[in-house]
Amino acid sequence: MKISFLGGARTVTGSCFMIETQSKKFLVDCGLFQGKSKEILLNTDEFMFNVKDIDFVLLTHAHIDHSGKIPKLYTSGYSNPIYCTKQTFELCELMLPDSGHIQELEVEWLNRKRKREGKHPVPPLYTALDAQECLKLFNPVEYDEFIEVDEHIKVRFLEAGHMLGSSMIEVYVYENGKEEKLVFTGDMGQDKQNIIRDREKIAYADYVIMESTYGGRVHDESVDKAKKFLNVVIDTLEKGGNVIIPSFAVGRTQEILYEIFKYKILNKDDEEYSNKVEKLLKIPVYVDSPLAVSATEIFKNSVELYDDEAKKYIEEGKMPLEFPGLKLTRSTEESKALNESNEQCIVISASGMCDAGRIKHHLKHNLWKENSTVIFVGYQAEGTLGRRIVDGAKNVKIFGEEIKVNARVEYIEGFSCHADQNDLLQFIREFKQIPKNIFIVHGEYPQQEVLYNKIKEEFGIEAYIPEFGDVFELDKLSHKVDSMKPISSQKFERLELLDRIETLKEEIQDMVMYIKEDLKQSQNDYLINEYNDKIKELENKILEIVKM
Ligand SMILES: [Zn+2]
Repeated sequence: MKISFLGGARTVTGSCFMIETQSKKFLVDCGLFQGKSKEILLNTDEFMFNVKDIDFVLLTHAHIDHSGKIPKLYTSGYSNPIYCTKQTFELCELMLPDSGHIQELEVEWLNRKRKREGKHPVPPLYTALDAQECLKLFNPVEYDEFIEVDEHIKVRFLEAGHMLGSSMIEVYVYENGKEEKLVFTGDMGQDKQNIIRDREKIAYADYVIMESTYGGRVHDESVDKAKKFLNVVIDTLEKGGNVIIPSFAVGRTQEILYEIFKYKILNKDDEEYSNKVEKLLKIPVYVDSPLAVSATEIFKNSVELYDDEAKKYIEEGKMPLEFPGLKLTRSTEESKALNESNEQCIVISASGMCDAGRIKHHLKHNLWKENSTVIFVGYQAEGTLGRRIVDGAKNVKIFGEEIKVNARVEYIEGFSCHADQNDLLQFIREFKQIPKNIFIVHGEYPQQEVLYNKIKEEFGIEAYIPEFGDVFELDKLSHKVDSMKPISSQKFERLELLDRIETLKEEIQDMVMYIKEDLKQSQNDYLINEYNDKIKELENKILEIVKM
C-alpha cells in the first residue's frame, strides 16, 4: 500500500492524500491551497495523477482547504463517488458554489487588467455552476457506520469535534492476507470544544495521518476568552468604533455567543460582566455572508451533534443560538450598505484568513480607523492577509489600495477549532496499541518539528513530516519510495523570490512609516540606532536574494 502527500504537507492548506492499494486508488480530501503565491499556483496545476484512475474520494470536512478542489477534480473528468457525513455534504452544498463564485470574481478582476494590457482572458479555476454540478457525486453517510466501498476496503467516519460534520476517517484495507488500518484525523477539535460533540477516541491503527496546526503550541487557558472577547468589544464600542471578526460565517459565531452566555450563567454574581453582556446585546451583530442564513439553518437542525451541555442549555431555554441583535445578510447590496452606514456594529465575515470574500471590504473600510478593532479568532496561515495583519504590518494592500493599519488588532486564542499540542498528544495516548507510524501533516514546519520531537520522546513511534509530493510505501518500516515534483515547480523558485520581495517591500514600507513618524516627534537617538540595525538587516536580506 502506498500513500502520496499531494497537499497539506508542511503547510496548512491544500489537504490531499492519495492511497493506492492492490485493488483501488483513492483520495482523502481534495483541498484548495490558500496563502502563499507559490502554493496558490498549485491550484491551477493539472492533478499529479490520472483523474480517471481515482475510484473514490473520502472527505473529512467542508472547509475549503479540504474540499475546495473537488469541483476542479470534477471538471477534470472525475465521476466516481465522494463520501462524507451528511452535515459536510450540506455545508459543501453552500460552500463549494460560493467558492466557485469567488473564483469567478478573482479572474474577473484579473481579466479586466489583462484586457487593458492587451492579453487574453484566463478562465476561473472553476465556476459556481461547476461546483453545483459536482455535488451530484456526493454520497452522504452516517457517523460510526462501516461502509464497504470495495470487498477489500471499508471505511468509517468518526466525530472529529472540529466543525459541524467534521470527521476522522478510519480506512480498513485487506490485502496480502491481512487487514491494516489507516486513520486520517482530518482537522481535530480541541478537547472540551463548545456546542458540538468532542472527538471520538480511537483504540488502534497501523498508520496515522495526523494534523499538526498547533503542534508546537498549547492554548492559553489562563485568560478567560469570553471575558477577554467581551472586554475588547465593549472597549471598542465605547470608543465609537466597529468590531470586525474575520471568520467562517456561522459555526464560530455561535460558539463565541455560546461562550459569552455560558460565562454569564456560570458567573451570576459578576455584575460588571452582566452589564457588559447587556450592552453587547444592544449592538447589531451582522454575520455578513451569502451563506449565513442557510448555514445557520444547518446548524440549528443538527442538535443531535451537539454535546450534552449544549443540549441541556438549549432544552432549558438558557442558551439562545440567536439573539435580537443578530442579523444575517445575504445580498451584496446589504453587505455594501454595512460599509456605508454610520451605525456602530460588529461584523463577522468570511474568509477567516482574509484572503478572499467580503471580509476584505470590511477591512478596507475599518483598518484605517483608530477606534475600530479587528479580532482574529482562528488560525492565520503564512502568506495570507490575516497573517500579515496579526504579525503587525503597518500597511496592507487590499484591492490594489494601500491601507494603513490604525485599528486595534487582537488575536483571541482558544476560540480556535484546532487541537493544541496537549490535545494532539492525548489523542495518541488514547491508543491501546501504538501505531507503527505517524505522518504529521497539515501544519507549518516549525510547529510540526516540535510535535515530531514530542511524539518521538513520549511514544518512541517512527514519525515522518512528509514533503509535498512524497510517496511512502506503508510497511512495518514505512519508507519513502518516490518524490514527485509539482508541474509548476520550475516556476516555484521565481514565486518564492516574489514572496520574499513582497515581504521585503512591506518591511521597507513599515520602516518608512517609523522614520516619518519619528521625524514628526524627533525624540530619542536610540531609536535611530534601532533603525540603523534594521536597515542593515534589510541590506543583508537583499544581498541574500540577489545571491540566490
Ligand atoms: Zn478545518
